Amino acid sequence: MNFDDSFDIAVVGAGHAGIEVAWIAAQLNMRVALFCLPDVAIASMPCNPSIGGVGKGQIVRELDALGGLMGVLADRCAIQYRTLNESKGPAVKSTRCQVDKEKYSALAEQFLAQSSNIRILKLKVSLISRQCTDNYFIISSDDRTFLSRTLVITAGTFLDGKIHIGADKFLGGRNMHDSAPALNDLFNNVPFVKKRFKTGTPARLVKSTINFSNLEEQISDPKTRCFHHQNANGERFLRQTSCFLAHTNDVTLQIIRSNRERSPLFNGQISGVGPRYCPSIEDKAFRYPDRNTHHVFLEPEGLELDTIYPNGLSTSLPKDVQQAFINSIVGLEEAMIANYGYAVEYDVIDTTFLHPTLEHSQIPNLFFAGQVNGTSGYEEAAAQGIVAGINAAFKLLGFAPFVLLRSESYIGVLVDDLVSRNVDEPYRLFTARAENRLFIREDNVVLRMAKYRKLLGLSAEIDFYHEKFVNNFDILFQVVSSFTYRPSLQIKERFIRFNYGEIFENLTMAELLRRSNLDPVSVLGFELVENGIFFHSDVVAAVATTIKYEGYIARNFVENMRFDNILRKKINWQQLMLSNNISNECKQRIGQERPETFLHLTKINGIRPATLAYVAGTYC
Ligand SMILES: Cc1cc2nc3c(=O)[nH]c(=O)nc-3n(C[C@H](O)[C@H](O)[C@H](O)COP(=O)(O)OP(=O)(O)OC[C@H]3O[C@@H](n4cnc5c(N)ncnc54)[C@H](O)[C@@H]3O)c2cc1C
Repeated sequence: MNFDDSFDIAVVGAGHAGIEVAWIAAQLNMRVALFCLPDVAIASMPCNPSIGGVGKGQIVRELDALGGLMGVLADRCAIQYRTLNESKGPAVKSTRCQVDKEKYSALAEQFLAQSSNIRILKLKVSLISRQCTDNYFIISSDDRTFLSRTLVITAGTFLDGKIHIGADKFLGGRNMHDSAPALNDLFNNVPFVKKRFKTGTPARLVKSTINFSNLEEQISDPKTRCFHHQNANGERFLRQTSCFLAHTNDVTLQIIRSNRERSPLFNGQISGVGPRYCPSIEDKAFRYPDRNTHHVFLEPEGLELDTIYPNGLSTSLPKDVQQAFINSIVGLEEAMIANYGYAVEYDVIDTTFLHPTLEHSQIPNLFFAGQVNGTSGYEEAAAQGIVAGINAAFKLLGFAPFVLLRSESYIGVLVDDLVSRNVDEPYRLFTARAENRLFIREDNVVLRMAKYRKLLGLSAEIDFYHEKFVNNFDILFQVVSSFTYRPSLQIKERFIRFNYGEIFENLTMAELLRRSNLDPVSVLGFELVENGIFFHSDVVAAVATTIKYEGYIARNFVENMRFDNILRKKINWQQLMLSNNISNECKQRIGQERPETFLHLTKINGIRPATLAYVAGTYC
């Protein structure tokens, strides 16, 4: 058999996961083939034109610190920045930006094309098999065939994709884009355990037909920190623009409710499981019958594009119903639809078959990342991409697996949840999934990621930046811990003048920052300047927040360690099957999963709290 070319790593899919695989693996000196469907733009955004958000902003920064692409691309294409949850505390504070989606795709392709280790192949992969002699993967597309030592599948929503708009059903990975073969047709002779998930998107509106004058404007926040750590604070590469806030009303929801039987989600036409945390407007209308108003954020898709993404109106209702409910909203009375909303059903794999490296446990050198693993969201996809990319390269280089701990990163939480839980609906990350969220914050990402980045052995500008940051953090931490205010008359007056409260005895700067009425970041910034001490504002923010929450974080660590010890306890699942204290339903699930540890038991879907309490009392 003749082959067109051979590679170290082949990546099927150039979406948000695939580009991170290719980018990091190329830096690790791997020869990478990046396959993508010819009519689908690289790193395209089929849903909202934004990067970041609660739990996701943290991921983008972690990815950036590891050397990923997403933060760099987002900053270069951002047209509006916001800091979410600013008043709710540092654990849940996250960055989000709107991006120009066309520029984002173009820039991603430009970055990848510049790497001499990456070959972009705009071909539809139709069959994958294994060469018997040396276990290379054979990747076929029409009349061309390629060889690769490892393979990463990042095919998004395309595997056996089926689109729904009202009663219309047709094959497609996205509206107006072809689907790809089903998972079990793509692979020759490998029967994967697969599931069907579903996701949806709203109609796109013609911007020039919207009346923005009655809507609340949300301007770009000049203070929001860029995603890429080396970009200066407040640096902006493109003109900034606004989003607008609209609301659904009684009429909107009445139109939707009166068309229930025409909704593919509710009339049985769609069987795939949808995302609980990104519900469609039909879901909201039927599941919350008492609520008649919901936010609709009108988000521009680009600076020159005349389309608006109405965030909150995801739907697969028929076209006439979409038009009617959209026109019932104040500001959208005359709005024309550029593209109709739709739902898509697609194949995903059972991620409990994956190792924490994202390699398949039964098929060596085969990795999966992104939406094909049952996740939802660009950031979740990109995070898995970097993990799979590093591990695919490390495997070939003979290095130890690269695994980020869930106690130290959101990427760790995501991967751990995927490989240890039976994900039965599209998975998205949010802060409540992280036990250590007070520690894994946006401001200290460099501190948490520097040691992992070092493992890559890629000496680059980014590593020098990390080293400097960590050193400066340590120095400032010492300064703040030892700097002492003495209760002289002058200091007492100063404390009153700046609303710091009273001072009766010696007080360190760290103790001052912990006072509950003070914002530690602004107080530390001010005090340093007053005392002629200068540090980068990112270091100041990380030190101030760390000091303020030090006590809570330490307590949290102890609790988590205690809990970890309980989770690691061995259990005897055969004995549990005989117990009278466990329901038959739980026994059935235990029999299927055969958990060896208490941790495994806690992660089985449908295990009741009473069963957990009984097992904990018996074994832990
Ligand atoms: C309709 C819709 C609605 C969505 N709604 C939301 C939402 O509400 N919230 C949210 O967070 N996320 C949403 N998403 C998800 C978000 O778009 C994805 O999570 C993210 O893009 C996944 O990235 P990925 O890299 O896994 O896949 P994608 O970005 O989809 O990329 C898949 C890649 O695989 C390639 N490909 C597939 N099959 C083949 C083949 N056989 N040969 C060659 N190339 C192939 C494609 O060309 C593409 O490059 C939605 C997606 C869609 C389609």
